[in-house]
Amino acid sequence: MSVIIDDTCITCDACLQNCPVNAIVDDMHNPTGESRYYVQPEKCIECVGIYDDPQCAAICPSIGCITWDMPYTSEYETHYMQNDLYAIGKSKTGKLLSPSHRAKKYKEDIPLSDRGVGKEVQEEPEELEVG
Ligand code: SF4
Ligand code: SF4
Repeated sequence: MSVIIDDTCITCDACLQNCPVNAIVDDMHNPTGESRYYVQPEKCIECVGIYDDPQCAAICPSIGCITWDMPYTSEYETHYMQNDLYAIGKSKTGKLLSPSHRAKKYKEDIPLSDRGVGKEVQEEPEELEVG
């Protein structure tokens, strides 16, 4: 990851339609069995190189539903591989697409202190400066 969808998801389908790399699956195909949409961390690139910000969060109507997760890199192997929140997919040859095997791009300008703590991706609009 990445970003993560929490249980305030209202299964509206908007994010799935907006993801440029098809990283999102619907509630019927969520590999963890939860009744919410699911971001596959082994596919999500945080929209890096395509858009300035995650497009799933930009369109999500449930404010706060999509939050920053840890980078999908080998440093966070344990976070992704030993956690019921995720069900990491396999390659066509059957190899687990773990962070150490298939690291993904992530937004380096998002500090680690904002990741994995429920910090929403969708920011409130900035207040207009007067004068
Ligand atoms: S951050 Fe971008 S790549 Fe990742 S799930 Fe959202 S839309 Fe897809
Ligand atoms: S856009 Fe938000 S509320 Fe709609 S399915 Fe995606 S995460 Fe759930």
